[in-house]
Amino acid sequence: MNRFDYIRAETLGAAVGAEGAFLAGGTNLLDLMKIGVATPERLVDISHLPLDRIEESGGGLRIGAMVRNSDIARDAQVLARYPALAEALLSGASAQLRNAATTGGNVMQATRCSYFQDPLSPCNRREPGSGCGALGGVTRNHAVLGWTEGCIAVHPSDMCVALAAYDAVVEITGPGGLREVAMEEFHPLPDAEGAGTPPLMPGEIITHIRLPDPGPLARHARYVKLRERTSFAFAIVSAAAALAIEDGTITEARLALGGVAARPWRCRKAEAALKGLPATPENLARAAELATEGARPSGDNAAKIPLAQRIALRALDRAAAGTPDRLPALPASVFAGDDNG
Ligand SMILES: Cc1cc2nc3c(=O)[nH]c(=O)nc-3n(C[C@H](O)[C@H](O)[C@H](O)COP(=O)(O)OP(=O)(O)OC[C@H]3O[C@@H](n4cnc5c(N)ncnc54)[C@H](O)[C@@H]3O)c2cc1C
Ligand code: SF4
Repeated sequence: MNRFDYIRAETLGAAVGAEGAFLAGGTNLLDLMKIGVATPERLVDISHLPLDRIEESGGGLRIGAMVRNSDIARDAQVLARYPALAEALLSGASAQLRNAATTGGNVMQATRCSYFQDPLSPCNRREPGSGCGALGGVTRNHAVLGWTEGCIAVHPSDMCVALAAYDAVVEITGPGGLREVAMEEFHPLPDAEGAGTPPLMPGEIITHIRLPDPGPLARHARYVKLRERTSFAFAIVSAAAALAIEDGTITEARLALGGVAARPWRCRKAEAALKGLPATPENLARAAELATEGARPSGDNAAKIPLAQRIALRALDRAAAGTPDRLPALPASVFAGDDNG
Protein backbone atom coordinates (compact mmCIF):
# COMPACT_ATOMS: atom_id res chain seq x y z
CA MET A 1 0.00 0.00 0.00
CA ASN A 2 1.30 3.52 -0.82
CA ARG A 3 1.96 6.06 1.92
CA PHE A 4 -0.92 8.50 2.40
CA ASP A 5 -1.98 11.38 4.64
CA TYR A 6 -5.08 11.13 6.77
CA ILE A 7 -7.43 13.87 7.97
CA ARG A 8 -10.81 13.62 9.64
CA ALA A 9 -13.55 16.03 8.56
CA GLU A 10 -15.79 16.91 11.51
CA THR A 11 -18.14 19.15 9.50
CA LEU A 12 -19.62 19.02 6.01
CA GLY A 13 -17.88 22.34 5.28
CA ALA A 14 -14.51 20.74 6.01
CA ALA A 15 -15.23 17.79 3.71
CA VAL A 16 -16.56 19.74 0.72
CA GLY A 17 -13.71 20.64 -1.55
CA ALA A 18 -11.16 18.73 0.51
CA GLU A 19 -8.44 17.19 -1.61
CA GLY A 20 -8.16 13.42 -1.34
CA ALA A 21 -10.41 10.36 -1.31
CA PHE A 22 -13.38 10.26 1.04
CA LEU A 23 -13.21 7.39 3.52
CA ALA A 24 -16.66 6.28 4.73
CA GLY A 25 -16.98 2.63 5.87
CA GLY A 26 -13.76 1.76 4.06
CA THR A 27 -15.04 -1.64 2.90
CA ASN A 28 -14.35 -0.90 -0.76
CA LEU A 29 -11.76 1.86 -0.75
CA LEU A 30 -9.30 0.13 1.59
CA ASP A 31 -9.54 -3.12 -0.40
CA LEU A 32 -8.65 -1.21 -3.58
CA MET A 33 -5.76 0.53 -1.84
CA LYS A 34 -4.38 -2.78 -0.61
CA ILE A 35 -4.24 -4.20 -4.14
CA GLY A 36 -2.78 -1.01 -5.60
CA VAL A 37 -5.80 -0.05 -7.69
CA ALA A 38 -6.61 3.06 -5.63
CA THR A 39 -3.58 5.17 -4.67
CA PRO A 40 -4.91 8.35 -2.99
CA GLU A 41 -2.30 10.64 -1.46
CA ARG A 42 -4.74 11.65 1.25
CA LEU A 43 -7.76 10.08 2.93
CA VAL A 44 -10.50 12.42 4.12
CA ASP A 45 -12.37 10.49 6.81
CA ILE A 46 -16.05 11.48 6.62
CA SER A 47 -17.31 8.87 9.08
CA HIS A 48 -17.99 11.52 11.76
CA LEU A 49 -20.15 13.77 9.58
CA PRO A 50 -23.69 14.31 10.90
CA LEU A 51 -25.25 12.53 7.90
CA ASP A 52 -26.34 9.42 9.79
CA ARG A 53 -30.13 9.83 9.97
CA ILE A 54 -33.18 8.63 8.06
CA GLU A 55 -35.79 11.40 8.08
CA GLU A 56 -39.29 12.03 6.72
CA SER A 57 -39.13 14.34 3.71
CA GLY A 58 -42.06 15.60 1.64
CA GLY A 59 -44.02 12.37 2.10
CA GLY A 60 -40.96 10.24 1.39
CA LEU A 61 -37.66 9.57 3.14
CA ARG A 62 -34.26 11.24 3.13
CA ILE A 63 -31.37 8.96 3.96
CA GLY A 64 -28.05 10.45 5.09
CA ALA A 65 -24.93 9.36 3.22
CA MET A 66 -23.41 7.94 6.42
CA VAL A 67 -26.38 5.71 7.34
CA ARG A 68 -25.12 2.12 7.45
CA ASN A 69 -26.62 -0.38 5.01
CA SER A 70 -27.91 -2.58 7.86
CA ASP A 71 -29.68 0.37 9.50
CA ILE A 72 -31.60 1.14 6.31
CA ALA A 73 -32.55 -2.52 5.88
CA ARG A 74 -34.13 -2.70 9.34
CA ASP A 75 -35.70 0.77 9.44
CA ALA A 76 -39.45 0.43 10.08
CA GLN A 77 -40.38 3.04 7.46
CA VAL A 78 -38.19 1.41 4.83
CA LEU A 79 -39.66 -2.03 5.57
CA ALA A 80 -43.22 -0.70 5.41
CA ARG A 81 -42.89 1.57 2.39
CA TYR A 82 -39.80 0.55 0.40
CA PRO A 83 -39.51 -3.20 1.05
CA ALA A 84 -37.61 -3.87 -2.19
CA LEU A 85 -34.86 -1.58 -0.89
CA ALA A 86 -34.59 -3.58 2.34
CA GLU A 87 -34.51 -6.83 0.34
CA ALA A 88 -31.83 -5.48 -1.98
CA LEU A 89 -29.63 -4.43 0.93
CA LEU A 90 -30.08 -7.71 2.77
CA SER A 91 -29.09 -9.63 -0.35
CA GLY A 92 -25.74 -7.78 -0.55
CA ALA A 93 -22.40 -8.62 1.07
CA SER A 94 -22.49 -10.03 4.64
CA ALA A 95 -23.95 -8.84 7.95
CA GLN A 96 -20.55 -7.54 9.08
CA LEU A 97 -19.99 -5.63 5.84
CA ARG A 98 -23.51 -4.18 5.88
CA ASN A 99 -22.83 -2.89 9.41
CA ALA A 100 -19.84 -0.93 8.10
CA ALA A 101 -20.94 -0.01 4.56
CA THR A 102 -22.57 3.39 4.13
CA THR A 103 -25.19 4.73 1.73
CA GLY A 104 -22.74 7.07 -0.03
CA GLY A 105 -20.06 4.38 -0.22
CA ASN A 106 -22.47 1.86 -1.68
CA VAL A 107 -23.48 4.30 -4.42
CA MET A 108 -19.83 5.12 -5.15
CA GLN A 109 -18.39 1.59 -4.91
CA ALA A 110 -16.13 0.63 -7.81
CA THR A 111 -16.89 -1.95 -10.45
CA ARG A 112 -15.94 -5.55 -9.66
CA CYS A 113 -14.52 -6.11 -13.16
CA SER A 114 -11.56 -8.39 -12.45
CA TYR A 115 -9.43 -6.62 -15.09
CA PHE A 116 -10.07 -3.30 -13.35
CA GLN A 117 -8.89 -4.93 -10.11
CA ASP A 118 -5.65 -6.14 -11.71
CA PRO A 119 -3.18 -3.23 -12.01
CA LEU A 120 -1.26 -5.21 -14.66
CA SER A 121 -4.24 -5.31 -17.07
CA PRO A 122 -5.10 -2.40 -19.34
CA CYS A 123 -8.28 -0.69 -18.17
CA ASN A 124 -9.82 2.52 -19.50
CA ARG A 125 -11.70 3.01 -16.26
CA ARG A 126 -8.57 2.83 -14.09
CA GLU A 127 -6.24 4.49 -16.58
CA PRO A 128 -8.05 6.35 -19.39
CA GLY A 129 -6.69 5.49 -22.84
CA SER A 130 -4.96 2.25 -21.80
CA GLY A 131 -7.55 -0.03 -23.42
CA CYS A 132 -9.95 -2.62 -22.05
CA GLY A 133 -8.48 -5.89 -20.83
CA ALA A 134 -11.91 -7.44 -20.46
CA LEU A 135 -12.84 -7.17 -24.15
CA GLY A 136 -12.06 -10.56 -25.62
CA GLY A 137 -11.28 -11.90 -22.16
CA VAL A 138 -13.46 -13.66 -19.62
CA THR A 139 -16.68 -11.65 -19.76
CA ARG A 140 -19.15 -13.86 -17.98
CA ASN A 141 -19.96 -11.09 -15.48
CA HIS A 142 -19.92 -8.16 -17.85
CA ALA A 143 -22.55 -5.91 -19.40
CA VAL A 144 -25.20 -6.82 -21.94
CA LEU A 145 -26.86 -3.38 -22.06
CA GLY A 146 -25.48 0.09 -22.73
CA TRP A 147 -21.86 -0.99 -23.18
CA THR A 148 -19.25 0.22 -25.68
CA GLU A 149 -15.85 -1.02 -26.81
CA GLY A 150 -14.48 1.46 -24.27
CA CYS A 151 -15.82 -0.38 -21.22
CA ILE A 152 -18.08 -3.38 -20.64
CA ALA A 153 -18.13 -3.31 -16.83
CA VAL A 154 -21.30 -3.46 -14.73
CA HIS A 155 -22.14 -1.49 -11.61
CA PRO A 156 -22.20 -3.99 -8.76
CA SER A 157 -24.58 -2.40 -6.22
CA ASP A 158 -27.84 -4.08 -5.21
CA MET A 159 -29.07 -1.05 -3.26
CA CYS A 160 -28.83 1.24 -6.28
CA VAL A 161 -31.08 -1.04 -8.36
CA ALA A 162 -33.90 -0.73 -5.85
CA LEU A 163 -33.26 3.00 -5.46
CA ALA A 164 -33.53 3.47 -9.23
CA ALA A 165 -36.85 1.61 -9.29
CA TYR A 166 -38.18 3.91 -6.55
CA ASP A 167 -37.11 7.05 -8.48
CA ALA A 168 -34.60 8.03 -5.80
CA VAL A 169 -32.57 11.22 -6.14
CA VAL A 170 -28.92 11.70 -5.13
CA GLU A 171 -28.21 14.96 -3.28
CA ILE A 172 -24.68 16.27 -3.83
CA THR A 173 -22.82 19.19 -2.26
CA GLY A 174 -19.68 20.61 -3.80
CA PRO A 175 -17.62 23.78 -4.01
CA GLY A 176 -20.19 25.00 -6.57
CA GLY A 177 -23.18 24.42 -4.26
CA LEU A 178 -25.95 21.82 -4.25
CA ARG A 179 -27.13 19.65 -7.12
CA GLU A 180 -29.40 16.66 -7.51
CA VAL A 181 -29.19 13.73 -9.92
CA ALA A 182 -31.71 10.94 -10.45
CA MET A 183 -30.30 7.64 -9.19
CA GLU A 184 -31.13 6.09 -12.55
CA GLU A 185 -28.74 8.49 -14.29
CA PHE A 186 -26.10 8.96 -11.60
CA HIS A 187 -23.70 6.29 -12.91
CA PRO A 188 -22.56 7.23 -16.42
CA LEU A 189 -22.80 4.80 -19.30
CA PRO A 190 -19.45 4.28 -21.02
CA ASP A 191 -18.48 6.24 -24.11
CA ALA A 192 -16.34 4.92 -26.96
CA GLU A 193 -13.14 5.69 -25.03
CA GLY A 194 -14.03 4.35 -21.63
CA ALA A 195 -16.13 4.80 -18.55
CA GLY A 196 -17.59 8.21 -19.41
CA THR A 197 -17.68 11.30 -17.21
CA PRO A 198 -17.25 10.55 -13.49
CA PRO A 199 -20.48 11.08 -11.54
CA LEU A 200 -18.84 13.48 -9.06
CA MET A 201 -16.54 16.45 -9.62
CA PRO A 202 -13.45 16.75 -7.36
CA GLY A 203 -14.48 17.86 -3.88
CA GLU A 204 -18.15 16.95 -4.34
CA ILE A 205 -19.75 14.74 -1.73
CA ILE A 206 -22.99 12.79 -1.64
CA THR A 207 -24.95 14.02 1.39
CA HIS A 208 -28.31 12.23 1.07
CA ILE A 209 -30.50 9.95 -1.00
CA ARG A 210 -34.09 11.13 -1.29
CA LEU A 211 -36.93 8.68 -1.84
CA PRO A 212 -40.27 10.04 -3.06
CA ASP A 213 -43.53 8.83 -1.53
CA PRO A 214 -44.08 5.32 -2.96
CA GLY A 215 -47.89 5.63 -2.70
CA PRO A 216 -49.59 2.40 -3.77
CA LEU A 217 -46.26 0.90 -4.92
CA ALA A 218 -45.45 0.23 -1.27
CA ARG A 219 -46.99 -3.20 -0.77
CA HIS A 220 -46.30 -4.73 -4.18
CA ALA A 221 -42.52 -4.52 -4.36
CA ARG A 222 -39.76 -7.15 -4.39
CA TYR A 223 -36.06 -7.55 -5.17
CA VAL A 224 -34.69 -10.78 -6.64
CA LYS A 225 -30.99 -11.53 -7.05
CA LEU A 226 -29.37 -14.37 -8.92
CA ARG A 227 -25.89 -15.15 -7.62
CA GLU A 228 -23.56 -18.08 -7.36
CA ARG A 229 -24.06 -18.59 -3.62
CA THR A 230 -26.27 -17.00 -0.98
CA SER A 231 -23.62 -14.84 0.67
CA PHE A 232 -20.60 -12.85 -0.39
CA ALA A 233 -21.57 -12.88 -4.02
CA PHE A 234 -22.41 -10.02 -6.33
CA ALA A 235 -25.39 -10.32 -8.65
CA ILE A 236 -25.11 -12.20 -11.91
CA VAL A 237 -28.39 -10.44 -12.62
CA SER A 238 -30.96 -8.91 -10.29
CA ALA A 239 -34.29 -7.10 -10.56
CA ALA A 240 -36.31 -4.67 -8.46
CA ALA A 241 -40.03 -4.55 -9.27
CA ALA A 242 -42.81 -2.41 -7.82
CA LEU A 243 -46.42 -2.31 -8.96
CA ALA A 244 -49.46 -0.20 -8.12
CA ILE A 245 -52.52 -2.39 -8.54
CA GLU A 246 -56.03 -0.92 -8.31
CA ASP A 247 -59.13 -3.06 -8.81
CA GLY A 248 -56.97 -5.76 -10.40
CA THR A 249 -55.37 -3.38 -12.90
CA ILE A 250 -51.73 -2.26 -12.88
CA THR A 251 -51.80 1.53 -12.74
CA GLU A 252 -48.06 2.00 -12.41
CA ALA A 253 -45.08 -0.30 -12.84
CA ARG A 254 -41.40 0.02 -11.99
CA LEU A 255 -38.73 -2.42 -13.09
CA ALA A 256 -34.95 -2.06 -12.83
CA LEU A 257 -32.25 -4.63 -13.61
CA GLY A 258 -28.88 -5.04 -11.90
CA GLY A 259 -25.73 -6.79 -13.14
CA VAL A 260 -26.45 -5.95 -16.77
CA ALA A 261 -25.03 -2.45 -17.32
CA ALA A 262 -22.78 0.25 -15.91
CA ARG A 263 -25.84 1.62 -14.12
CA PRO A 264 -29.05 0.21 -12.67
CA TRP A 265 -31.11 -0.33 -15.82
CA ARG A 266 -34.67 1.01 -15.76
CA CYS A 267 -36.85 -1.01 -18.16
CA ARG A 268 -39.17 1.72 -19.41
CA LYS A 269 -40.74 -0.30 -22.23
CA ALA A 270 -41.61 -3.13 -19.85
CA GLU A 271 -43.10 -0.64 -17.40
CA ALA A 272 -45.22 1.02 -20.11
CA ALA A 273 -46.39 -2.36 -21.39
CA LEU A 274 -47.83 -3.28 -17.99
CA LYS A 275 -49.79 -0.10 -17.39
CA GLY A 276 -53.56 -0.58 -17.64
CA LEU A 277 -53.38 -4.38 -17.74
CA PRO A 278 -54.16 -7.04 -15.14
CA ALA A 279 -51.13 -8.79 -13.62
CA THR A 280 -51.67 -12.06 -15.49
CA PRO A 281 -48.76 -14.47 -16.05
CA GLU A 282 -48.91 -13.67 -19.79
CA ASN A 283 -48.72 -9.89 -19.27
CA LEU A 284 -45.89 -10.17 -16.77
CA ALA A 285 -43.97 -12.53 -19.08
CA ARG A 286 -44.33 -10.16 -22.03
CA ALA A 287 -43.04 -7.27 -19.92
CA ALA A 288 -40.09 -9.37 -18.69
CA GLU A 289 -39.14 -10.09 -22.30
CA LEU A 290 -39.23 -6.37 -23.09
CA ALA A 291 -36.95 -5.70 -20.09
CA THR A 292 -33.84 -6.68 -22.03
CA GLU A 293 -34.74 -4.99 -25.30
CA GLY A 294 -31.53 -3.87 -27.02
CA ALA A 295 -29.37 -6.32 -25.06
CA ARG A 296 -26.37 -7.93 -26.75
CA PRO A 297 -23.59 -10.05 -25.30
CA SER A 298 -20.21 -8.42 -24.66
CA GLY A 299 -18.40 -11.73 -25.08
CA ASP A 300 -19.30 -15.03 -23.50
CA ASN A 301 -22.21 -13.73 -21.42
CA ALA A 302 -25.17 -14.30 -23.76
CA ALA A 303 -26.79 -16.37 -21.02
CA LYS A 304 -27.33 -13.19 -19.01
CA ILE A 305 -30.07 -12.08 -21.38
CA PRO A 306 -32.56 -14.93 -20.77
CA LEU A 307 -31.48 -15.02 -17.10
CA ALA A 308 -32.32 -11.33 -16.73
CA GLN A 309 -35.73 -11.94 -18.31
CA ARG A 310 -36.43 -14.77 -15.87
CA ILE A 311 -35.30 -12.78 -12.84
CA ALA A 312 -37.40 -9.82 -14.01
CA LEU A 313 -40.40 -12.12 -14.34
CA ARG A 314 -39.83 -13.57 -10.88
CA ALA A 315 -39.55 -10.09 -9.35
CA LEU A 316 -42.73 -8.93 -11.13
CA ASP A 317 -44.56 -12.10 -10.16
CA ARG A 318 -43.59 -11.76 -6.50
CA ALA A 319 -44.44 -8.05 -6.52
CA ALA A 320 -47.88 -8.79 -8.02
CA ALA A 321 -48.53 -11.36 -5.28
CA GLY A 322 -47.95 -8.65 -2.65
CA THR A 323 -45.02 -7.98 -0.35
CA PRO A 324 -45.04 -10.39 2.59
CA ASP A 325 -45.28 -8.80 6.04
CA ARG A 326 -42.10 -10.58 6.99
CA LEU A 327 -39.34 -10.87 4.43
CA PRO A 328 -37.87 -14.34 3.79
CA ALA A 329 -34.94 -15.46 5.93
CA LEU A 330 -32.64 -15.43 2.92
CA PRO A 331 -34.28 -12.60 1.06
CA ALA A 332 -34.09 -12.38 -2.68
CA SER A 333 -32.20 -15.62 -3.13
CA VAL A 334 -33.69 -17.66 -5.93
CA PHE A 335 -32.33 -20.71 -4.15
CA ALA A 336 -34.20 -19.97 -0.94
CA GLY A 337 -37.64 -21.00 -2.16
CA ASP A 338 -40.49 -18.55 -2.17
CA ASP A 339 -42.59 -19.46 0.83
CA ASN A 340 -43.51 -15.87 1.53
CA GLY A 341 -44.53 -14.67 -1.86
C1 LIG B 1 -16.74 -9.26 0.27
C2 LIG B 1 -17.65 -8.18 -0.21
C3 LIG B 1 -18.88 -8.52 -0.74
C4 LIG B 1 -19.75 -7.52 -1.18
N1 LIG B 1 -20.97 -7.87 -1.72
C5 LIG B 1 -21.80 -6.89 -2.16
C6 LIG B 1 -23.04 -7.21 -2.76
O1 LIG B 1 -23.41 -8.38 -2.90
N2 LIG B 1 -23.84 -6.20 -3.16
C7 LIG B 1 -23.48 -4.89 -3.03
O2 LIG B 1 -24.24 -4.00 -3.40
N3 LIG B 1 -22.29 -4.54 -2.49
C8 LIG B 1 -21.47 -5.52 -2.06
N4 LIG B 1 -20.25 -5.19 -1.53
C9 LIG B 1 -19.81 -3.80 -1.62
C10 LIG B 1 -20.15 -3.01 -0.40
O3 LIG B 1 -21.54 -2.80 -0.40
C11 LIG B 1 -19.39 -1.72 -0.53
O4 LIG B 1 -18.03 -2.02 -0.26
C12 LIG B 1 -19.87 -0.67 0.43
O5 LIG B 1 -21.22 -0.36 0.22
C13 LIG B 1 -19.04 0.58 0.31
O6 LIG B 1 -19.41 1.46 1.35
P1 LIG B 1 -18.32 2.07 2.31
O7 LIG B 1 -19.02 3.02 3.20
O8 LIG B 1 -17.49 1.03 2.98
O9 LIG B 1 -17.45 2.87 1.24
P2 LIG B 1 -15.88 3.21 1.20
O10 LIG B 1 -15.10 1.99 0.94
O11 LIG B 1 -15.49 4.04 2.37
O12 LIG B 1 -15.88 4.14 -0.07
C14 LIG B 1 -16.18 3.63 -1.36
C15 LIG B 1 -16.03 4.77 -2.38
O13 LIG B 1 -17.07 5.72 -2.18
C16 LIG B 1 -16.53 7.02 -1.96
N5 LIG B 1 -17.45 7.65 -1.02
C17 LIG B 1 -17.88 7.12 0.15
N6 LIG B 1 -18.81 7.92 0.70
C18 LIG B 1 -18.97 8.98 -0.15
C19 LIG B 1 -19.81 10.12 -0.14
N7 LIG B 1 -20.67 10.36 0.84
N8 LIG B 1 -19.72 10.97 -1.18
C20 LIG B 1 -18.85 10.75 -2.19
N9 LIG B 1 -18.03 9.66 -2.26
C21 LIG B 1 -18.10 8.80 -1.24
C22 LIG B 1 -15.13 6.75 -1.43
O14 LIG B 1 -14.27 7.84 -1.63
C23 LIG B 1 -14.73 5.54 -2.24
O15 LIG B 1 -14.33 5.93 -3.53
C24 LIG B 1 -19.37 -6.15 -1.06
C25 LIG B 1 -18.14 -5.81 -0.50
C26 LIG B 1 -17.28 -6.80 -0.08
C27 LIG B 1 -15.96 -6.40 0.50
S1 SF4 C 1 -14.57 -3.52 -18.74
FE1 SF4 C 1 -14.23 -1.42 -18.06
S2 SF4 C 1 -13.47 -1.73 -15.98
FE2 SF4 C 1 -13.21 -3.70 -17.01
S3 SF4 C 1 -11.15 -3.67 -17.95
FE3 SF4 C 1 -12.56 -2.90 -19.49
S4 SF4 C 1 -12.45 -0.67 -19.21
FE4 SF4 C 1 -11.68 -1.58 -17.33
